[in-house]
Amino acid sequence: MNAACRSVYPVEQVLTSCPACRKTGRESLLDVVYDRSDPGQKLPRDFAYFLRPESGGECSGVWQFRELFPFYRSPSEILSVGEGRTLLQKADQLAMKLGFVGRGHAATPSLFLQYEGYNPSGSFKDNGMTAGFTHARMAGAKIVACASTGNTSASLALYASQAGMKAFVFIGDGKIATGKLSQALDYGATTLQVAGDFDTCLARVRAIAEQPSAGVYLLNSVNPFRLEGQKSIMGRVLRDLGLGRGGKIPDWIVVPGGNLGNCSAFAKAFIELRALGMIDRLPRLAVINAKGARTLDRLVNEIGLKWIPAADGDELAGTFDEQKVGAEWASMDAAGAGGRAKTIASAIEINRPVNLSKALRALHAMNGVVRSVDDPTIVEYKAMVGRYGFGCEPASAASVAGAHALLQEGVIRPDETVVCILTGHQLKDPDVTVGYHMGITNTVQGEPTRARMFANQPVRVADDLSAIAGAMGVSLS
Ligand SMILES: *Cc1c(COP(=O)(O)O)cnc(C)c1O
Repeated sequence: MNAACRSVYPVEQVLTSCPACRKTGRESLLDVVYDRSDPGQKLPRDFAYFLRPESGGECSGVWQFRELFPFYRSPSEILSVGEGRTLLQKADQLAMKLGFVGRGHAATPSLFLQYEGYNPSGSFKDNGMTAGFTHARMAGAKIVACASTGNTSASLALYASQAGMKAFVFIGDGKIATGKLSQALDYGATTLQVAGDFDTCLARVRAIAEQPSAGVYLLNSVNPFRLEGQKSIMGRVLRDLGLGRGGKIPDWIVVPGGNLGNCSAFAKAFIELRALGMIDRLPRLAVINAKGARTLDRLVNEIGLKWIPAADGDELAGTFDEQKVGAEWASMDAAGAGGRAKTIASAIEINRPVNLSKALRALHAMNGVVRSVDDPTIVEYKAMVGRYGFGCEPASAASVAGAHALLQEGVIRPDETVVCILTGHQLKDPDVTVGYHMGITNTVQGEPTRARMFANQPVRVADDLSAIAGAMGVSLS
C-alpha cells in the first residue's frame, strides 16, 4: 500500500514503487499491510506469544517473530541462514562513563546496546535481507541487485549465494569499507563500480529494476519486504527487556540514520504491536545523522518538515510537504560537490534518504527527535564502545554519541531506559579503528580531532626478555 494514495497491490507483484504515484511524480514508497481481520492472521493480545520455546527449525531471531510479517504463503518459502540471533547487551560501564544512572532505589543504569553486528554478514541488514529474499523467491526472481555503501551488498551477496541467484551490487566512487567490499567479492556477487555516489547508484539500479524486461529484483530498502524483517530487531529488544514476563518497553530507541529504513521499520513494528494489543505505548525515537550527511536533521529541525497523518486515523497513512523536499533537493544539487554527503561513517553517507517519508511517519508516531554528530565525535565514541562494549563500525557509534548528546541536552533523562542500536560489526571498517589508535587523522570534515581518550597503540619493544618484561610492567626473578 502507498501511504498517500492508498493504492493496494497483491503481495506477489514485484514493485519497487507505487505505479500510480510514480506516474504523477509523487512519493511512491510502498508498505506491506496485513488484513488482521482475517481469522488466519489473528494473534493473542500478549507479547508472550513470541516467547515460545525454539523448535527444531527455528534458529532465526527474525522468524521467531514471523507472525509480525506474514506475507509469505508457506514457511517453506522462508530463506534463513540463522540471522537475528543478536544480543541486547546491558552496558553498565559505558553508561557510568556517560552519566546514565537508572531508575529507583539501588538502580543500575539502563543503557543497552542492541548488537546487530552479531549477524551472519556482520550488520543488521541480514534482518531485512532474509525477508527480502523470501519475497524474491516467492516472486520467482533469478537476478537480484542493490546499490550499497557496503553492508547491503555484503548481506545481499551472502543470501544470493545461498539462494543460487545471480547478484549485482552497485557501489559508487564514495568510500566503501574494506571489510564490506571483501564480503561482496568473496560471496561471488558481480560488483559494478559506477562513477557516481551512492544516490546515483541507487537511481541507476532502480531504473533498471523498474524495467520488467530486465528481470532484476531490487533489494535496497525501498523494498518494503526488507523493512518487514527489520521489525524483528524491535521484537528482540522487547523480548530481551522481558516484555510478556513482567518487563517494560524502553523509553528510547536511538539509531543511526542513513537511508532511514531501519528507523522506519522500528516505528512500523511498534505501531503494529500496539494495534495487536501487545504494547500500550511507543518508545521515543532518536535518529542520529552524521554531521556531514545531515539531510534529515536539516529537513526536520531547520525546514520544519513533518508527517501529516491521514484524517481517518489509519496510522500508516499520511503525507508530507513534497514541495519543501523538492526545494531542498534542488538546493543540494545547486551546491554541487560541496553539498554532497561526506563522513567517515560510510554506512550513513547518504544525500537523499529514500525512506524519508516513512522516517517522518516514524518520528511522528514515536515522538521522535533528530540530531547529528560530527566525525571526530563518532570515532571517539566508536573507540569507547569498543573499550566498554562489543565494538562496532563508525556509523553505529553515532547512536551512542547521539544518546549522550541528548542526555547532555536534557532531552533524555539519566534514569530513562535507552537502547542504542549497534548496526554493524567492529571488523567492517578496520582502517578507521587502526587509524584512531595509531593517531592517523582519518576523519573527513577537517574538524580538529578529539583527545583520543581510548587510543591504544602497539608498544614497540626490542627482542629482549628484560625489555619485554619492562614494557609489560612485570618483574622477572
Ligand atoms: C545501512 C546502515 C545504516 C543506515 O541504516 P538506514 O536504514 O539506511 O538508515 C547504519 N549503520 C550501518 C552499519 C548500516 O549498515
